[in-house]
Amino acid sequence: MKTHLFFYTGTGNSLWAARAMADELGNAEISPIPRDTGEPVRIEADAAGIVFPVHIWGLPQPVINFVNALAIDASRYYFALAVNAGQVAATLLQLDRLMKSRGLYLSAGFDIVMPSNYIPWGGPGPEDKRIKRINEAREKIRKISSIIAGRQKGPVEKGPLWQNILLSWLYSLSFSHVPALDKNFWVDDKCNSCNICNKVCPCGNIEMKAGKPVWLHKCEQCLACIQWCPEEAIQYGKKTSRYERYHHPDVKLKDMIAASRNNSERGIGVNHK
Ligand code: SF4
Ligand code: SF4
Repeated sequence: MKTHLFFYTGTGNSLWAARAMADELGNAEISPIPRDTGEPVRIEADAAGIVFPVHIWGLPQPVINFVNALAIDASRYYFALAVNAGQVAATLLQLDRLMKSRGLYLSAGFDIVMPSNYIPWGGPGPEDKRIKRINEAREKIRKISSIIAGRQKGPVEKGPLWQNILLSWLYSLSFSHVPALDKNFWVDDKCNSCNICNKVCPCGNIEMKAGKPVWLHKCEQCLACIQWCPEEAIQYGKKTSRYERYHHPDVKLKDMIAASRNNSERGIGVNHK
């Protein structure tokens, strides 16, 4: 029995979670969720996992596009890991509904809490707390892997009622504005034109003009550009120059460049082990 894990990642938390799950399961392949090409996505493995960050308390657009592109095969075992900084809200319920609307069935959906990467609201917090979250996430992935390996029905996890109502409402209000939120990015004079921001953007939203990044207003707010800039030259609004940058400590820049859906489109995939 083979598992294929599809991940969407900005700062490596979801890539790490996909790797950790693949390690537990064995006989697992991981790859970035593909760009929407208009062609159906056909999966060979008998189980498919979707590993993604929760964005503004709901599904990121690339995950919605991916589910909408899946070839219909209700017999396959589907599961999901929703990586978040403490408020999964109704994200997995949203995924469950989306899959049902396509005739697909989400057998299990799990909430994985990791360090925050949403730098517009602050830094990732003290290192000891980050390590604690990562260790707890690893332990949870170890525990739930037996459910996935046994192809069992598991829970579709959700936050408390107030989150599911209030935060889902905020998601619905904000969602259409996300692509243009990149108007708040700017680059300071530390930029050395290395082009890394362009390479790590999973959405092809950065163009280099005269050696400096320009954002194209099809942003998904994954924060890869600002978090991976080696010079910390990218800022968002007025406060980020004061905040510590974060990416998952076990994920390297070369992993991110390989995982960028820009690159995977050009055939540079990520293989597990
Ligand atoms: S990653 Fe940073 S230093 Fe490199 S081009 Fe982009 S903004 Fe400039
Ligand atoms: S521009 Fe930055 S925040 Fe927006 S999708 Fe690309 S890497 Fe992510």
